[in-house]
Amino acid sequence: MKNTRRQRKTNAKLKDKGRYILYWMQASQRIKDNHALYEAMMLANHYKRPLYVLFVLDETFKDGNRRNFKFLLEGLNDVKAKLKTLGARFIIRRAGLYEGVVPFLKDATAVVMDDAYLKGLRTVKGKITKQADSLGVPVFYVPSNVIIPVDEASSKVEYAARTIRKKLNSAASFWAEALDEDITLKHQDSTSDALPVLDDLDLEDISVSRFLQGGEKKALKQLETFLDSGLKHYQESSFNPACAQAVSYLSAYLHFGHIAPSLVWREVKKRVANDETLSDSADAFLEQLLVRRELAYNFVWFLEGYDRFEKMTVSWAYETMEKHVDDERGYLYTKADYLALKTHDDYFNAAMAQMLKTGYMHNRMRMYWGKKIIEWSKDYKTAYETILDLNNTYFLDGRDPISYASVAWCFGRHDQAWKEREVFGKLRYMNAGGLKRKSDIKDYVKTWLKR
Ligand SMILES: Cc1cc2nc3c(=O)[nH]c(=O)nc-3n(C[C@H](O)[C@H](O)[C@H](O)COP(=O)(O)OP(=O)(O)OC[C@H]3O[C@@H](n4cnc5c(N)ncnc54)[C@H](O)[C@@H]3O)c2cc1C
Repeated sequence: MKNTRRQRKTNAKLKDKGRYILYWMQASQRIKDNHALYEAMMLANHYKRPLYVLFVLDETFKDGNRRNFKFLLEGLNDVKAKLKTLGARFIIRRAGLYEGVVPFLKDATAVVMDDAYLKGLRTVKGKITKQADSLGVPVFYVPSNVIIPVDEASSKVEYAARTIRKKLNSAASFWAEALDEDITLKHQDSTSDALPVLDDLDLEDISVSRFLQGGEKKALKQLETFLDSGLKHYQESSFNPACAQAVSYLSAYLHFGHIAPSLVWREVKKRVANDETLSDSADAFLEQLLVRRELAYNFVWFLEGYDRFEKMTVSWAYETMEKHVDDERGYLYTKADYLALKTHDDYFNAAMAQMLKTGYMHNRMRMYWGKKIIEWSKDYKTAYETILDLNNTYFLDGRDPISYASVAWCFGRHDQAWKEREVFGKLRYMNAGGLKRKSDIKDYVKTWLKR
């Protein structure tokens, strides 16, 4: 099978028993360029079984809230409609992940799972796999939310973008190849469960975002808009948060798996093939989509303590923080101050307002925002926990490998030592001067701080 180069399989032998092929959809909530779904369809045809696609809605999921679940349900709505036309059965369960999946194992011929990267999901997938093993049901893990499977890209924690860039760039065209979308299921079963309504779910009440709507259709449309009008200005966007049309706004779609990074990579390359003037912008964009994004996956995959203050960064960074731990902080704020937009810094307050309202923040402002929280917290660990907490509660793209790598970046991970100064030591410092000089920051503040 063409797709086998992407899968890892347990030792259990495939046998001609069981009633269906089970695809437990979790990370790749889409149809197009979904390698796990493709694998499951191939197995279903080979074993002449129907395909059951299961989605488990876990309302207790850490940092799951109304904002995130609205986006998620919008995505599932698209999945449901598409699976119907493909002839696969769609099953929804409201349960813990383990409790939701395990009842489906014993009658499965084989189970296909999206690959998982963050600890909680890895643990639960391990437990489910153990259970499947004990029943003699084989499990296939298929990574579809990275262009290059993490184990193929590297075998260790990479130090920085420069240590993995060449490998990723040279392997991308091989791994980003399109799947054969013409495959049809021979054994059709189009029944599907109704999706629950957001108001019926028991979730923390974080306001929903009107700025971005979830789903594969919206994601593909967003990509098209970006390629048509944003890509050519992308380089300017990297330092100008007011240049709002030049970024892709794909991060939440990528996080929920509503769009595949391989598809985005191919579409960008196609545009460049037709218009060489886009080449520099496309390189800058793919540096983020491929190199920085997959460096983040490398980080959480290979570094055991990626989510702990004591382990997430590098030794020079811990040494410099140790040296500067008692430096006097000019201002001290708490999470409540940030949420109330009560700091003395309107650039920061505007960034917080954008986050609270939309679930999004421009990359340049995220850097500034993270660095300011370090500057205004009583110690580094408090700063780390505050940044991560706000990040994972309010960003639609939070709770992602990039969330952990980016917050660690604020503390020196994947970065270099800089000129030593108060509070930051050798950690990179960011001041408002850079924003004033290089961007239309006044417009940004005006947009988000309408007082
Ligand atoms: C403190 C801090 C916290 C962050 N938290 C998150 C987070 O929780 N989730 C998240 O997805 N990104 C996070 N980022 C990275 C980045 O800011 C966002 O990915 C980006 O702003 C999303 O907007 P976009 O899709 O329009 O990006 P574009 O500029 O259009 O980039 C395209 C894609 O490339 C990837 N990308 C872009 N910038 C980075 C980066 N610096 N590192 C890794 N991948 C990148 C994303 O997948 C993004 O969607 C954080 C950055 C910082 C400094």
